[in-house]
Amino acid sequence: MRKKMVAGNWKMNKNLQEGMALATELKNTIINPTCDVVIGTPFIHLASVAELLKDSPIQVAAENCADKEKGAYTGEVSAEMVASTGATYCILGHSERRAYYHETYEILKEKVLLALANNLAPIFCIGEVKEERESGVQNDVVKAQLEGSVFNLSKEDFGKIVLAYEPVWAIGTGLTATPQQAQEMHAYIRSLIAAKYGEEVADNTTILYGGSCNAKNAAELFANPDVDGGLIGGASLKAEDFAAIIAAR
Ligand code: PEP
Repeated sequence: MRKKMVAGNWKMNKNLQEGMALATELKNTIINPTCDVVIGTPFIHLASVAELLKDSPIQVAAENCADKEKGAYTGEVSAEMVASTGATYCILGHSERRAYYHETYEILKEKVLLALANNLAPIFCIGEVKEERESGVQNDVVKAQLEGSVFNLSKEDFGKIVLAYEPVWAIGTGLTATPQQAQEMHAYIRSLIAAKYGEEVADNTTILYGGSCNAKNAAELFANPDVDGGLIGGASLKAEDFAAIIAAR
């Protein structure tokens, strides 16, 4: 049985004190979740938040890691450093990283390999932009993203990753994919995994939906058979909203 999950992505929000306050609220609110719960925080929060949450069911993710192992790369944070904080996941391939920091398929391939080598499970994001959806090439885009950065993995390593389908036109816009659009794409992604790694791996892969998912629309999205949970941006910044989304899973 594949795992169900709700993961938050705080992005570049909350200073350390604010982040610790939110993590404390989440720790006190989310006691016995019926799915895996992960929060993705900025690098500077990781060690403190992971320590705070070490006896809670909430796991911690970085939002990025370097594409190099170590050395003279001023300002970068390696996968090994992330793992040393107690974080267990790493969000990779987010559309904001692809668009604003020019992360290519090749760069992301390296990041995924380094995360896995350091026992961090990648939450690997894929998804098309608005023009691609409008011209009907969303399936080709998502296929190329998978082939470019994760279909090189061994079956065993692929089994460790979580995918997040995030249509870029739905991120932070208030526009959500319809449950039908989400289901169609998730089923397509699962079919690609089945063709590459076999039915068993496909059945076991957790595929999250992300893009303006909130307390109101989460249940409807999660009711789809191939939608295993959500990657939540804006609505993960308030404990009450995030907890309501977890309750909907
Ligand atoms: C995201 O950035 O991963 C995301 C899904 O954001 P939002 O929920 O704010 O659309």
